[in-house]
Amino acid sequence: MKYEACIGLETHVMQKTQTKMFCGCKHEYGAKPNTNVCPVCLGYPGALPVMNARAIELCCKAGLLLGCGINPRSKWDRKNYFYPDMAKNYQITQADEPLCLGGQLTTEVAGETKTFTIERIHQEENAAKNTHISGASLVDYNRAGTALMEIVSNPCMHSSSDALAYMTALKQIMEYGGISDCDLEKGHMRSDVNVSVRPVGQKELGAKVEIKNMNSFGFIVEAIEYEIDRQIGVIENGGTIDQETRGYDTDRGETFSQRTKEDAHDYRYFPEPDLLPVEISAEQIEQWRSELPELPAQRRARYVSELGLPEYDAGVLTAEKAVSEFFDETCQKTKQYKLVSNYLMGKVASLVTEKEISIADSELTAETLAQVAELVAGGTISSSAANELIEVLFTEGGDPKAIVEEKGMAQVSDDSALEIWADEAIAGNPKAVEAYKAGNAASINALMGCVMKASRGKANPPAVIALLKKKLGA
Ligand SMILES: [Zn+2]
Repeated sequence: MKYEACIGLETHVMQKTQTKMFCGCKHEYGAKPNTNVCPVCLGYPGALPVMNARAIELCCKAGLLLGCGINPRSKWDRKNYFYPDMAKNYQITQADEPLCLGGQLTTEVAGETKTFTIERIHQEENAAKNTHISGASLVDYNRAGTALMEIVSNPCMHSSSDALAYMTALKQIMEYGGISDCDLEKGHMRSDVNVSVRPVGQKELGAKVEIKNMNSFGFIVEAIEYEIDRQIGVIENGGTIDQETRGYDTDRGETFSQRTKEDAHDYRYFPEPDLLPVEISAEQIEQWRSELPELPAQRRARYVSELGLPEYDAGVLTAEKAVSEFFDETCQKTKQYKLVSNYLMGKVASLVTEKEISIADSELTAETLAQVAELVAGGTISSSAANELIEVLFTEGGDPKAIVEEKGMAQVSDDSALEIWADEAIAGNPKAVEAYKAGNAASINALMGCVMKASRGKANPPAVIALLKKKLGA
């Protein structure tokens, strides 16, 4: 029998807010443990929550970016559970009336355009951070109560590649939209992954297994692949799949059972009595819609249609928001779009990896990169000199023209110098000269290489070719 996997993701995204969701404590990564706390986020009896308007705005904007409808009226609920990371013993969340409903995300999966549907986005608060050390557990409440939204997809993905494409696109949209920094290492984006399998053709979903709290895209892909194989194996051997929560053991590359039969009623959701419902007017929604930034897909289309870049370049440049912003800024200062794209994808990208410095933290600026492109386009420096120049600008900064002069990087088009190198190349390579005269056009490259070497890369290639051809009587 053939099986089909159905995968849904519940992705928690930490919003970029200054303060926490229901109190004025600072939202700050890396602060001394338990310093950004107050009676509200420590769950003192009688402390009252106050909504963070900016978090509501960011959640709704995330919804608009994903094509969701914004609920004119949504409300808060308590999700009850007992665990040290939630001092109140309940989490404030939204059960049946979330801020955003419906929505979709369209992206490419292995060259095919796919649309994945989103069920809802609700606003909630984060739990504290537990650290388990030998014989003891430590709790840091700095994270307790920070703004967290949950983006719930439908079980509309059918492979680990679908899930990876969805997460990658979602991360990009959240970053471009200014909703979250989506720093995976800091836990800004974590997903619960639901996996079930069913015989191809069957409508009902199989029993789902939930793998909780994963922040690495690579591990999510591994866990999905393992779980699909495991479930098919169990069914084919006559077993049944239990609805359960499983963890992923990254060392062994396997999922393992954690708890079974957990359902929504276990949490005894009930309305939060301390907060009023959220009412959002149509004017407010239109105001937010007008403030939405350009998304990666729109930006890619603009690079292709307006700047004439290949699709490939547009994809690479928009993969990271910071790179694409640097590209846009550079293109305000030069029209050599393709050259700028080549340098960002080539030399600059390799410097970022090699030196472990982001473009923003490097000494290179949009202004200096634009000047490099102009120097190449105008024939002042060669492509290889451009790479050398970019390295200097990246690590030390400075004025491109002054560096070209100081380091003698300018191309030599001056005939007298080129003549000497060309004559030497011809005299030193009789075989290549003979082959060229016998009709092997490519053998001129050997001579060209000698001239470039003698000039230490500064000879102007088109001028060299023209001169060699003239001397060889072609
Ligand atoms: Zn607080």
